This record gives sequence, structure tokens and C-alpha cells, in this order.
Amino acid sequence: MQRSMTVTYEVGDNLYVNLTNRCPCACVFCIRTHDDGAYGSDPLWLEHEPTFAEIRASFEARDMSRYREIVFCGYGEPLMRFALVCEVARWLREQYPGKPIRLNTNGLCELYAPQEALADGTGAAEKLAGCIDKVSVSLNAGDAACYDRVTCPSGHPTNAYETMLRFAAGCKARGIATAFTVVDVLTPEETAQAVRQGESMGIPVHVRAYID
Ligand code: SF4
Repeated sequence: MQRSMTVTYEVGDNLYVNLTNRCPCACVFCIRTHDDGAYGSDPLWLEHEPTFAEIRASFEARDMSRYREIVFCGYGEPLMRFALVCEVARWLREQYPGKPIRLNTNGLCELYAPQEALADGTGAAEKLAGCIDKVSVSLNAGDAACYDRVTCPSGHPTNAYETMLRFAAGCKARGIATAFTVVDVLTPEETAQAVRQGESMGIPVHVRAYID
């Protein structure tokens, strides 16, 4: 496994942000099981989790006018550093006004994010609505059994699927442009069921190809 301090990296005409390698899931399709980077990036396994100052320096070293969107994604679940995502996103809004900010997440922060970040009684979706424009939530399945098989949330909580759905619904309700993703490792019937789940919530579902 190769490590680096790749905090930001280009994917197409977007700039992606890599804040952590922590993730409570072990998705069967996770690129981290068979690569060190993504889309031709340098290794995304971090030497250490970047500080706010290191993140800011990574943005300031770039010509930000070249990028269409900023995307919190990386080689881990960004919301394992929930408070930092909000802090960085607020700073990005000030520095690069009008630049859309997207978050790619497993939607399980209410189960796994450091709870002090959520302890003031303001829900996760409401906090994110103040600093994020778009969210892409890993739907992964059309029911809880399929979700648990594909996503493998740590500790095997019985409510992971419903927690993820509730998070996505909360984001949509608070005005964040919300989308679901499904990776094409499901059967056609399972994929159709997942798409119906998204449609029943008024949230579009993007089925993407598995990256091998
Ligand atoms: S949530 Fe993302 S980082 Fe975590 S195991 Fe699944 S695909 Fe990998």
C-alpha cells in the first residue's frame, strides 16, 4: 500500500477532497480493496489525516477557476470528520463564492460520525445545509438485507439502511440537491428495487459502473 499526502485531486473537471481513510463500511465494490488511488490520482492512502491548514494550502496551490465543482469524497467516509467538513466547506464558500460544493457520503453519519459534532441538537442534514450545495448518498440497495450484504456496516447495526434513508430525506427536505448512487454489482431486480426506493422519495438514483 502506497501512502501520500494527496489532499485534493482532479477527477474530470472537478476537484475532489481526501480528508480521511476511515470508513465504517466495507462495500463489496470499494475501490480501496484493489487500488491505491482513483481515476489516475496519486495514492489516496494518507500519511496522516490533513489539518485544516494543510487542506487550505492544497486548495491555495491550485488555480480554482479550472474546476466546475468541489467534491468531498476521497479514500474514506468524509463525515467521519464531520466538523472539519463543515469548517472547510464554509471556508470554501467564502474563498470561492458560487463554486458548487458536493459531498459524497455513505449517509451513516448519525451512526458513526464523532457524536460531539452532532451533539448540539441540530441534525446532521441541517448542519450540512448551511455549507453544502449537493449531496450524493450511497443507496446501494432497495432493502435492508441487500444493503447490509453490499455495504457491510461495521458492528452490523439493524438500522443502517433506514438511517441512511432518513439522512438523505433530511438533506432533500433542507434544500440540498440530493441524489442516490447504486453500483452495478446488484442483480437487475435488485437494481430496479433500489431505483424504485429512490423514486418513492423523490430522489434521483444514478446507477454507476463498478470500477475494477
Ligand atoms: S462507504 Fe465508500 S469508502 Fe467506505 S467502504 Fe463503501 S465505497 Fe469504500
